[in-house]
Amino acid sequence: MKIAILNCLKANDVCTGGSCLRAFNARAKHFERYRDEKDLELVALARCNGCEAGIDKGFEEKLQYIVDAGAEVCHVGVCTVKRETGKECPVITEALARLEAQGVKVVRGTH
Ligand code: SF4
Repeated sequence: MKIAILNCLKANDVCTGGSCLRAFNARAKHFERYRDEKDLELVALARCNGCEAGIDKGFEEKLQYIVDAGAEVCHVGVCTVKRETGKECPVITEALARLEAQGVKVVRGTH
């Protein structure tokens, strides 16, 4: 089963992706649901292109890569806006809607 992870660029200031990868490899936290999955493959570990860029051409390419790579599920980390206001940022909401429209299931949460 192929999985992608999408994270907030703002979180990049302090994020190595390590906690996501650790949870993925251990099949823990939001990845626990794959505990019995024999072939679990991480096909993309992407970040948005920032609040100002929104869904620019480069971000569209990243989203398309996730689809083309055959990701069945895209896990999304908590964006900085949500962390600060409790409400998901509109850029990530739109990005996830685009993935869902192309058949990728979205799970909000990584670790
Ligand atoms: S657009 Fe959303 S997910 Fe991307 S950096 Fe801004 S708050 Fe984070």
